[in-house]
Amino acid sequence: MDVGRHPTHPDWHALPAEQALTRLQTSSSGLADTEARARLARVGPNALPRARPRPAWRRLLAQLANLLVAILLTAAAISLALGETLDTLAIVGVVTIIALIGFLQEGRAEQALARIHDMLSPRAQVLRDGRRTEIDAEMLVPGDIVLLESGDRVPADLRLLEARRLRHQEAALTGESVAVDKDIAPVATDAELGDRASMAYAGTLVAQGSARGVVVATGTATELGRISTLLGGVEKLRTPLLRQLDRAGRVLAGVILASAVATALAGILIHDSPWPEMFMAAVGLAVAAIPEGLPAIVTIGLALGVQAMARCHAIVRRLPAVETLGAVSTIFTDKTGTLTRNEMTARTIWLPEGEIRLHGVGYAPHGALHAVADDDSLLEPLRVDDHPTLRHFLRVGVLCNDAELVEDAGEWRIHGDPTEGALVVAAAKAGLTVGGIRDEHDRHDAIPFASERRYMATLHRIDGAPWLLVKGAPDRLLTMCQRVRAESGEVELDRPLWEARLRALSSRGLRVLALAEKPVHDPGELSEAHAERGLVLLGLVGLLDPPREEAITAVAECRAAGIRPVMVTGDHADTARAVAKQLGFARPDRALSGHELDAMSAADLAEAVRRIDVFARTSPEHKLRLVEAQQSHGEICAMTGDGVNDGPALRRADVGVAMGRQGTAAAREAAEVVLADDNFATIVAAVREGRKVHDNIRKTLTFLLPTNGAQGLAIMLAVLSGSLLPVTPLQALWVNMVVAATLGLALAFEPGEADLMQRPPRRPDAALLDLFLLWRVGFVAALLLLATYGIFAWIHGLQAADITVARAGAVNMLVAGCAAYLINSRRLTRGILSRRGLFGSRAVWVTIGLVAAIQLAWTYLPLLQRLFGAGPLGLGHWAAILASAVLLLLIVEAEKALLRRRG
Ligand code: ADP
Ligand code: MG
Repeated sequence: MDVGRHPTHPDWHALPAEQALTRLQTSSSGLADTEARARLARVGPNALPRARPRPAWRRLLAQLANLLVAILLTAAAISLALGETLDTLAIVGVVTIIALIGFLQEGRAEQALARIHDMLSPRAQVLRDGRRTEIDAEMLVPGDIVLLESGDRVPADLRLLEARRLRHQEAALTGESVAVDKDIAPVATDAELGDRASMAYAGTLVAQGSARGVVVATGTATELGRISTLLGGVEKLRTPLLRQLDRAGRVLAGVILASAVATALAGILIHDSPWPEMFMAAVGLAVAAIPEGLPAIVTIGLALGVQAMARCHAIVRRLPAVETLGAVSTIFTDKTGTLTRNEMTARTIWLPEGEIRLHGVGYAPHGALHAVADDDSLLEPLRVDDHPTLRHFLRVGVLCNDAELVEDAGEWRIHGDPTEGALVVAAAKAGLTVGGIRDEHDRHDAIPFASERRYMATLHRIDGAPWLLVKGAPDRLLTMCQRVRAESGEVELDRPLWEARLRALSSRGLRVLALAEKPVHDPGELSEAHAERGLVLLGLVGLLDPPREEAITAVAECRAAGIRPVMVTGDHADTARAVAKQLGFARPDRALSGHELDAMSAADLAEAVRRIDVFARTSPEHKLRLVEAQQSHGEICAMTGDGVNDGPALRRADVGVAMGRQGTAAAREAAEVVLADDNFATIVAAVREGRKVHDNIRKTLTFLLPTNGAQGLAIMLAVLSGSLLPVTPLQALWVNMVVAATLGLALAFEPGEADLMQRPPRRPDAALLDLFLLWRVGFVAALLLLATYGIFAWIHGLQAADITVARAGAVNMLVAGCAAYLINSRRLTRGILSRRGLFGSRAVWVTIGLVAAIQLAWTYLPLLQRLFGAGPLGLGHWAAILASAVLLLLIVEAEKALLRRRG
């Protein structure tokens, strides 16, 4: 059979596992790498076709489908009918420029998002050449052996070969949300999809347990591929803020259109103006006053934010999170790996006979072991052969363990859980051969570690008899043990003594594990009820997990920014408090533990959550309660998570943050943001970025609206008073669409103000257009209006120059005024009269330079002069325009200073 091509589709679910392997020409140790590559070339990648991105011409055309362009094109048609060919040409030219700008900006934003999509591509654990490796799920081929753990999303259709307590959530395939049990026994040939317990189908989630299976189908040949052939493309750039802006924009457009019509009618009725001219005036007014460039600029701002967050390792899965991040006021965070480095080193072991310390840091298996004397001094380095209890302790630590220690180009690394890795390193330091121990004592069954269980158990044959080995949180294990294994034999457990030892280790910030064992008489299937009774304690081991340096800085930054970091950990309360203290938490001296939390009512918890920064011995459902409690105070919460059961808390939080490295697929899919580096500091960096994005959007609004206001008012005033228009409709169109939009774009690149992380979080319900903003818009619009009319009146009235020259003066005054105000707008309330304030942004000066060049061409090129009705300005005019622009900048700075003084 040609395994490469899914020729027939045998009933894999009805075949015994062995036969499935044979038919796929593979074995339980996986394919050889070369064979896998050959198969990949034949079957193609394990991927579903993506929805194709919109072709460029459709995107370009879509730019034309909006209200403003419709108005403009109508205007162009009417101008043409009236014989105003020049006007028609100019309008069509401007429409083309608008469409091109929009097209380019949108393309850029879409590209940014597509790249981010790719960063989240799924991975799979497979056996290749008999070794466990992680590959891109796209590289899977039929015959590959895939390893599954709880929380994984199944990457391809698998025939199960091994299943431990396996349950799958198959809603993606069958619509059934209750998890179903899985098992390796063949099922009836005609079983429904939902009843094929021997299969794990692509797209379903491992809700519990672990498994391995052989890939029987990939890509479109999977069951998922058959029902859905298209995968959603790039997410649309739509966020609540954008929608809010859209809505406000539509209302504004309606009002402006109505006043444009009213103004034109007034001109015809009161001043007897010719109607074609009034028609153009109405169009001009509408175009001048509607801030059409705004949505595009805001979109770019958001896309830039997403990109910047990705650069600092925070991958945004849902766009609204960019905005919400900026409003976060509480960050609930895991401890291990997020605040700490998750590089565990065993530092000390407590056996019944006494304490033993281990030297050396990191994963390199070098370092001596010393017993500790009564006066706390270290004795001679010890030999493990002289210490049978230590030897046994280390052996159990290696067996009840899934981690591997590997040397890779001179660097020692752990594959698997670092907590377990530390035990492997400890055994290697003592000179034990880890592989040998594991080969000698095959594992027959296991209960994997889970946060809510807080222990792990395995079943082995040791010296001919079956033994149950358990490793887990000491407070948990102490309740499961009655006796202790000492050198002299089993003795009664001295509980207070061991609890004191546990506290001593924990309060030094060490993560503590206990090991225990018991002989098994009936080595059937392992059950929790069985594992949790009558154990014999072997000892404790304390692991050092230093805090991340950058987390210490990030905690300080949070506190300065009015954001409260709260630690939620499964670790011991004393350990958690010690670490919180090292990290600089505000209140590390009190910790609330999971069982205290269980005893609290929602109201009590809502009260407690305000006072307490450290929650210890928690399980995932506590996280949900904590988020809800804090949200009841109107706080905006971020919550981190990595496990399957963290899903509800992540979804409930305003910003769910999943761990990209340690986290499960289930957690990632429930989260808004994925941390590529699992680092707390990254969350804080993302919050900073979110605040910046929001700031820049406000700045863009304050910048753009006055330009629109001033031009709209100028046209309206001129028509109503029956005087000459200082700016023709066509010219207003030019300024608004080409110049202001270009300038405004510069604000999307603003780097963020110095006090960004020194002010309290923004209130989530605060209006975007608040009183301050409205005042600023009105104030600057009035200034611009005054300057424009002033220049126009001066050139036309006093100098009696040609109207085209006067209008060129007015237009250039508007543009220069905008350029000056652009510099003001870099900071909403803080001054910009400093070197960094004036020259700190390259984007601002590049666009100003660009616009200056465009305006010179506009003023002096004969073709453009004719198109837009402009006349050549003299040097004196330019001097007056520049001076007025500088004056405007200074007046706005004075206004800021006054506002600051008043608080
Ligand atoms: P966190 O990740 O918040 O530090 P966990 O839920 O991972 O907390 O761990 C809780 C406790 O369970 C730890 O303090 C430790 O004693 C124990 N533990 C952690 N990992 C393992 C493991 N792989 N096997 C056995 N016990 C573990
Ligand atoms: Mg953990």
